[in-house]
Amino acid sequence: MTLYFDHAASAPPTPEVIARVAEVQRDLFGNPGAAHPCGQRAARAIERVRGQVATHLGCFPERVVFTSGATEANNIALQGVVRARRGAVPHLIVATTEHPSVLQVARALVDLGEATLDLLSVNSVGQVNPEELRGLLRPDTALVSVMHVNNETGVVQPIAKLGRICRAAGVPLHVDATQSFMKLPTEVDALHADLLSIGAHKMHGPKGVGALYVRAGVALRPLSFGGGQEGGLRAGTPNSAGIAGFGAAIAAYTPAEAARVLGLSRALRALLDEAFPHIVHHSPDVGSIGTILSFRFADRPGRPAPRGGALAAALARRGVQVSASAACCSGLDTPSAVLTAMGLGADEARGNLRVSLGRSNQEDELPAFLAALRAALEELAPKGSA
Ligand code: PMP
Repeated sequence: MTLYFDHAASAPPTPEVIARVAEVQRDLFGNPGAAHPCGQRAARAIERVRGQVATHLGCFPERVVFTSGATEANNIALQGVVRARRGAVPHLIVATTEHPSVLQVARALVDLGEATLDLLSVNSVGQVNPEELRGLLRPDTALVSVMHVNNETGVVQPIAKLGRICRAAGVPLHVDATQSFMKLPTEVDALHADLLSIGAHKMHGPKGVGALYVRAGVALRPLSFGGGQEGGLRAGTPNSAGIAGFGAAIAAYTPAEAARVLGLSRALRALLDEAFPHIVHHSPDVGSIGTILSFRFADRPGRPAPRGGALAAALARRGVQVSASAACCSGLDTPSAVLTAMGLGADEARGNLRVSLGRSNQEDELPAFLAALRAALEELAPKGSA
């Protein structure tokens, strides 16, 4: 038995995605930059997906740049804005709980002497405060970057409020919407986003493909130079098959499917609360995407809480795939920076388990998940404890 509950790390490609990737590899192999019909067929397939992405972002297709994933989109956004500036070293504002593909880019730019940085703190549920942002903005601020949905806890940031503040100050806002695309509304005008990153494999598309929305007038210097593809912002022959698979994933992620996955997640949360009265949630009940459940078990007399890593391993032995925190940080003994930024102690943060649902989950998996979790907790309990 395999139960997959780690969709925030990567969501399995659905049959229609796998079929479309194979079809394009086989039949649309021409270089989309070539003038002959073989190339033009591939180019048309890419443009169709650009249109699909644009529809969901509420923008013109030409504002969408395909990338190798969300990491590259985030890099182009941050490095691109900073390096397009001339003159004094620009200032960046980034939330403390951003994904490393934002936070580490900002830190690298500071190390290189190319930017200064202020971090925007979060409260105990992981949300930033728009008033704190207002106070951090400076005349030399080049960019504010705040994610839409956190990949570890699922908390939703008040992006539209932040966007209004940035707009009034004339500072562009970058939004990492990797975890929210197709799951929450991501129209760039409603969010007041000037740059927005997405990745295909978090919503059942292929790995190695993503996109960056760039509002007209936002100056960016590309990271790589070459054949001038993607409006000169991302040189290199586009990944036609990956992009086409992204399109198939978008078409299949219907509002009904999104609602079904959310309903399952809510049901699982209720079942967990009923089965484990000592559960402590790190994902807020209200104000979170709902499909990412981040929690720990409280210490009880004679029964210390297990570490998330040990619990995830015990679940894996029972065929259940989850993460202790973000997949990119698993294997490290350092507690999650996201959870410690929310005020959790190191040991509390080390107790975290992240369970994330997606389209591959079915209702009948929930009792099996619960039974495996109960057995894993028993296995890890000190011998002789009640
Ligand atoms: N941003 C967020 C919020 C993410 O969850 C991830 C994936 N963990 C990324 C960016 C990076 O995505 P990728 O590794 O596919 O480039």
